[in-house]
Amino acid sequence: MTASRSSLEPPLPPSWVIRRGRSRIHGSGVYARVAIPAGYVIIEYRGERITKAESRRREIARLERVRRGGDGTTYIFRLNARHDLDGRRGGNLSRYINHSCDPNCRADKIRGHIFIIAERDIARGEELSFDYGYGFRHWELNPCRCGAAACAGFIVAADQRWRLLQARAKAARSARPR
Ligand SMILES: [Zn+2]
Repeated sequence: MTASRSSLEPPLPPSWVIRRGRSRIHGSGVYARVAIPAGYVIIEYRGERITKAESRRREIARLERVRRGGDGTTYIFRLNARHDLDGRRGGNLSRYINHSCDPNCRADKIRGHIFIIAERDIARGEELSFDYGYGFRHWELNPCRCGAAACAGFIVAADQRWRLLQARAKAARSARPR
């Protein structure tokens, strides 16, 4: 993955640039306090460093909660092949940034750290979002309400959405009366 360079150096403290607020999308969200130029490194995604085994355990518990109609919020971020970050502990404002199917930010890995970077110019007051990059598995448990014109309806990584479309088309075909 390529590292992006900040267009404003040095970066300002994140709390000067963004704030937490009630989201249109889901629960809490993060909003721009000021206009943010494309390429600006907004904040590092921080959290408790956990092993893949622990991460899987937490994800299974989460999916179980969702199946029972409970809260599906997760702050787990894939760090590398061995570890993940869980923003629930030791996290910062970045954990409240929502997924969007048409995001204005991206998450880049730079020297073993994850940074949230403006993908395009962001207006003051705009809600920040990035593509959570979820795989196709368990797609039905992660509905998306991002409101983007191109919303896939579920939180699935952009490069996996064709599989989602395929699955939904197949479901629609079999539901149609003969
Ligand atoms: Zn969406």
